[in-house]
Amino acid sequence: MDFDNFTKRFKDVRSSRTGLVSSWHGEELLDGEVVDTFAVIFRTRGCAWSHRNGCTMCGYHTDTNPEITRSHLNTQLKEAIQRYGGERIVKIYTSGSFFDPGEIPLDLAKDILSSFDSELTVVESRPEFVKPDLLKELCDSVQLLQIAMGLESANDFVLEHSINKGFGYSDYLDAREIVFNAGAVLRTYLLLKPPFLTENEAIEDLIRSISEVDHPKNTISINPVNVQRHSPLELLWRRKLYRPPWLWSLIEVIERTDQDLIISRAGLGSKRGANNCSDCDKDIVKKLQEFNLSQDRSLFSDLPDCTCKSHWKTYKEMEPLTHFRGSLEILSDRYAGYI
Ligand code: SF4
Ligand SMILES: [Zn+2]
Repeated sequence: MDFDNFTKRFKDVRSSRTGLVSSWHGEELLDGEVVDTFAVIFRTRGCAWSHRNGCTMCGYHTDTNPEITRSHLNTQLKEAIQRYGGERIVKIYTSGSFFDPGEIPLDLAKDILSSFDSELTVVESRPEFVKPDLLKELCDSVQLLQIAMGLESANDFVLEHSINKGFGYSDYLDAREIVFNAGAVLRTYLLLKPPFLTENEAIEDLIRSISEVDHPKNTISINPVNVQRHSPLELLWRRKLYRPPWLWSLIEVIERTDQDLIISRAGLGSKRGANNCSDCDKDIVKKLQEFNLSQDRSLFSDLPDCTCKSHWKTYKEMEPLTHFRGSLEILSDRYAGYI
């Protein structure tokens, strides 16, 4: 591939897009009750970390535009308000950090938050943008603010070498303190199977991370890794150096924990997302959706024993013998200059 041409074409496409990335309506549990949700993704200049470096599994930069202006953002807000149907939970995403003033200026952040009549408003941010004064001002604009942080793993080694997260577990804990002191609540994203971990390592890392971040004011959201377009991880996946997590692994995590968990549906049952086999993917994804709204772990007790389950067990046993640990070098060579 001619990377120079590709990069130019990619930048042209990005700078021509100035509207909302997308929005959708869904359902989620709120204090034990299933309520309607509204989610919207604003197109901003993008994640500051992504501009400097970026996480290995992240392709969100494709939904951003470094040339976005204040006027574009104002138009996006008007569009978002039109699409809002009075849902009790509103989630406002930016493919970056809502609290980064370079993405969303403070006065606009206030306008956005006060535009929706929700009981719970969710915004995402990296910990370095979580500041006491900022939170104090923004918490006044909503009934209850929930800050979602992509911690991904509570293990610093995984954060640095597998995810290239650019912050450590202690940074997350410091930001968590600020969130709770401001009267806000937290949502923590954890990954199942970031790159360079075996299936077993990924399961154990996630179970340990769930228990580390468990807190009454924290909602834990599990993101089984999906291979995003134009992410570094995509290069490994195309070379068959990465397999997305098995759905069986996700069920193992659910069964070995007792915390409430929200399972992200992104990519579930597809070849780029957590998958088993074409015979059982559909049924299991349906159960996972039911689990999100009921937290009923018994849903998984009567799953048919698909033949792929024994493949998954063998895969877990054999993988440590075949795991290719040189993939980090390939990644850094081939990705240089790609974005
Ligand atoms: S995963 Fe989040 S923090 Fe990492 S580069 Fe993407 S948007 Fe930024
Ligand atoms: Zn199967």
